[in-house]
Amino acid sequence: RYDRVYNFSAGPAMMPESVLEEIAAEVLNYHGSGMSVMEMSHRSPVFQEILSQAEADLRTLMHIPDNYKVLFVQGGGTVQFAMVPMNLMKNGVACYVETGAWSKKAIAEAKRYGEVKIVASSADKNFSYLPDCSALDIPGNADYVYICENETINGTAYHTLPDTKGKVLVADQSSLFLSRPCDVSKYGLIWAGVQKNVGPAGMAIVIIREDLIREDLPEFVPTYLRYKTHADADSLYNTPNCWSIYCCGKVFQYLLANGGLEAMAQRNEEKAAVLYDFLDRSKFFTAAVLKEDRSLMNVPFVSPSKEQDAEVAASAKAAGFDNLKGHKSVGGLRASIYNAMPKEGVEALVDFLKKYEAEHT
Ligand code: PMP
Repeated sequence: RYDRVYNFSAGPAMMPESVLEEIAAEVLNYHGSGMSVMEMSHRSPVFQEILSQAEADLRTLMHIPDNYKVLFVQGGGTVQFAMVPMNLMKNGVACYVETGAWSKKAIAEAKRYGEVKIVASSADKNFSYLPDCSALDIPGNADYVYICENETINGTAYHTLPDTKGKVLVADQSSLFLSRPCDVSKYGLIWAGVQKNVGPAGMAIVIIREDLIREDLPEFVPTYLRYKTHADADSLYNTPNCWSIYCCGKVFQYLLANGGLEAMAQRNEEKAAVLYDFLDRSKFFTAAVLKEDRSLMNVPFVSPSKEQDAEVAASAKAAGFDNLKGHKSVGGLRASIYNAMPKEGVEALVDFLKKYEAEHT
């Protein structure tokens, strides 16, 4: 109807069409306020309502326990790479599991603030699997154990959480946030950049257990980068990313109206199976990740050569399947199939790839 393409971008990524329609309908005059959310004071009662409804809906969706704060913080994912160690390294020791580009970035940033122990890594096989995290060697004085729960570039996802030996678990959930149910009580801190599975870029959602919000931070930690600043001000310490909060709130309502995270997980499993089953049968395309560690959100795969990868991506784009090129650091192809990608989109892509294979073998 709108001439939209199937957009397989890893982020910013597709949003549900009905949500975009609702936003479009409200863009000139939000609920009789006479203005759009973009033009509205963040201190106005109308915006306060948007913010508190968004938080309440997220709490319902994820069953977030009362002793966790929900924070809307600017700066996307990258700022969280720094905020986590700045706020949580009390003893100055943190354990990281190295599973790809995004955990490597988190590790590099944490090293600025303290000692980082890499307790497991899958670097030996180009991050195409997840290391065994059932018996990690975690020092007694470790402040936390950090994982990237879904590596967007490499296409791995945890299906069982690591045994952290009672230490606080911190997870970057950016690329699987709200794609499946999550037992928040197993984590000390969850954070997610929103531009993959939720809304517009420029914001991260942080879910943090209250006892981890510290006051006694080193003097150098900037005000904005203290979780306490955001917790005390209910995410209104300064002007927040109002537009992103509003759009994310719309997506939370969409998810609640469509069966919540259980329904999303089921849809996502069915959707990913369509693509993985094809890749596993294909003699031309190969899925990059070990079966048991595969992400349901980001599906990296390759054709027989780099040249053909580029050709597949280009002819797919011409056929209405956009953003299939793999991340520049790893090459190949990648289909990101977040919540908002309909199953028909994945089926149509598989039909296209099947045809491509038939014509090129
Ligand atoms: N973590 C993961 C898993 C990501 O995929 C990304 C972005 N692709 C980031 C962190 C960084 O997020 P941002 O670009 O918002 O800084």
